[in-house]
Amino acid sequence: MPPHPESWLRVTEAGLFCEPGGFYIDPTRAVPRAVITHGHSDHARPGHMSVLGTPETLAIMRLRMGEERAGLTQQPLAYHSPLDINGVRVTLVPAGHVLGSAQVVMDWQGSRAVVSGDYKRSPDPTCPPFEPVTCDVFVTEATFALPVFTHPKPADEIAKLLRSASLFPERTHVIGAYSLGKAQRMIALLRQSGWDRPVHLHGAHVAMCALYEELGVKLGPLLPATVKDKAALVGAMVLAPPSAIADRWARRLNDPIPCMASGWMRIRARARQGGVELPLVISDHADWPELLRTAREVQAPEIWITHGREDALIHALSGMGIRGRALHLVGLEEGEE
Ligand SMILES: [Zn+2]
Repeated sequence: MPPHPESWLRVTEAGLFCEPGGFYIDPTRAVPRAVITHGHSDHARPGHMSVLGTPETLAIMRLRMGEERAGLTQQPLAYHSPLDINGVRVTLVPAGHVLGSAQVVMDWQGSRAVVSGDYKRSPDPTCPPFEPVTCDVFVTEATFALPVFTHPKPADEIAKLLRSASLFPERTHVIGAYSLGKAQRMIALLRQSGWDRPVHLHGAHVAMCALYEELGVKLGPLLPATVKDKAALVGAMVLAPPSAIADRWARRLNDPIPCMASGWMRIRARARQGGVELPLVISDHADWPELLRTAREVQAPEIWITHGREDALIHALSGMGIRGRALHLVGLEEGEE
């Protein structure tokens, strides 16, 4: 009988620890050996001795935290290239969340666990799609694990934005989007919808967009959004960090319309609170139907939930004959969406 993953994949104060492999996955504090699913700051933290991740994730970590803090040694591992770590076979498989994002597939003595990190199932032109891997234990997030969270089609949300742009040709649309993943996806979605004019960037987005381009994700013409040159921003699309869309910087633009791209925009009160005039429900996390579909497809008899709204999900899983277990991992916030 192969060992149950419970006996070799443990919850510790620093996060999930693969005991025979001697490595942590997305540890919340500095550890000797870390495997990182993706570059968001609640998963990729500075100060580890050795870091393993996809080449894209390692590049993102170097950009965000600097060469020194992104791991004393960095070991790139491409998708679908199994690596033996102390007898544990580790394979990284696309998670469809942001560029470089990976599920960590671990095989040990005939038992398989998959840690998905964050993921989504809806198509994203900036990263390869999530691939379901059958396993004994699937570890999932539950950020949007309530039936109310059914994300609309991204193309329909972009259509709303373009409609607003044609209704208000003099105004500047300032779109709040997190700098890793969401900003680039918004640009790519705009391009898919036929927006071929330059997209203007708040300074906080420039370096990450340049890195995406360097890594082969084409984003089309990008220009800095400089307040000094307000005239150039008439009718423009400006991407900014969520915190900037209603601040002084944004107010100095041309009669700005604050927009926000996030799964949380499904909740109207949240949009109102943030001063968002045009909420765009575009998420890089699985919605409720995607969570259930994924649970079916990976065929795991048991699903562990790292963080988020686990109660509703555990209930729904039990109706499907799947045992759900809440891990209550700390340090994984809704943070970067
Ligand atoms: Zn993430």
